[in-house]
Amino acid sequence: MPIRCRSETRDAGDAPHLHALAGRGEDGVVTADGPAEAVTAPGPAPGWARQVAAVAVLTGAGISTDSGIPDFRGPQGLWTRNPSAEKLSTYQAYMADPELRCRSWQARLAHPAWTAEPNRAHRALARLACSAIDTQVITQNIDELHQRAGTPPERVTELHGTMFGVLCTGCGDRTAMAAALDRVRAGEQDPPCTLCGGILKSATVMFGQPLPPGVFERAAAAAARCDLLLAIGSTLTVEPAASLCSIATAAGASLVIVNRDPTPYDPAATAVIRDPIGEAVPRIAGQILPA
Ligand code: ZN
Repeated sequence: MPIRCRSETRDAGDAPHLHALAGRGEDGVVTADGPAEAVTAPGPAPGWARQVAAVAVLTGAGISTDSGIPDFRGPQGLWTRNPSAEKLSTYQAYMADPELRCRSWQARLAHPAWTAEPNRAHRALARLACSAIDTQVITQNIDELHQRAGTPPERVTELHGTMFGVLCTGCGDRTAMAAALDRVRAGEQDPPCTLCGGILKSATVMFGQPLPPGVFERAAAAAARCDLLLAIGSTLTVEPAASLCSIATAAGASLVIVNRDPTPYDPAATAVIRDPIGEAVPRIAGQILPA
C-alpha cells in the first residue's frame, strides 16, 4: 500500500479547530511535580514540548476509539462488557479449541477496523512523523491506522502485530487477512493453511505469545534516545510495552501521558493530560512542531 506524507494537506484543515480549542480544559492537566503547566492555554508551549529533537510515541487502544474501534478495558470496552472475550485473545486457548477459533474468525469478519478511518490524533502524529523531528510511533494497536493516516511505515513499530496479516502456526507462512476472510465467507469456519494444513491465526500477538524477535528492542531503542515519550490512550498495564515509560525516563526524557484514566506510570510523568485524545494530541503536535 503506497503511503505518502499528508502533513501539508492536513495542516490547513486542522489548524482552525486547534485555535478553537485553545483555552479549554485546563483542569485536565496534572503534573507530578510543581504547578500544573497550562498546556491548553494560549501562549508558549510547556517546557517538555520545546526543542524536542526526538519523540517516541506509544499508543494504545484509546487512540482508536474515536475511529469506532472499541478499547478493551474502558467503560464500553470489549472485555468490560464481555469478560470471556479476553479468552479469544489467548494463544493457548485458541490453539486448543476449534470452536473458539470459529468464533474468532467470525469476530474478525465483523471487526470495525475494516471500515475504520484514521482520526485527528492519528493525523496529528503523522504530521510529527513527516516533520524534521525524529519520530517513532510505537503502537499496541493492530489496526494500521497510523500508517493509513500518513505515518511512514518505517516510523511505526507494531508491538502486537497487525490484523491485516495471517500467520500459519505450523509452517510460518504469511498471507493476507482479506484472502482468509474470503474463505470464511465462502463457508470455511476455521480455514487451515493451504500449504501444510496448520492452524491459521491473525498476525497479531495474543496473550501467552512472545513479541516478534527484535520488535521490543527497536521500541526500547527509540524510548532510550528520545527527548519526549508521549504515551497516548494506553492503560500502561500490559508489559513489556508499559516499561518503555521507565526506559525513557531513566534516560532523561520527559514522559507525558494522555489518557482518560489513571495509569501506573502517572507518578513518574512530567505531565498527565486527561483531555479527550482527539483534542489533546493535535494540540501537543502543534506545540512540539516549530512554528
Ligand atoms: Zn502452514
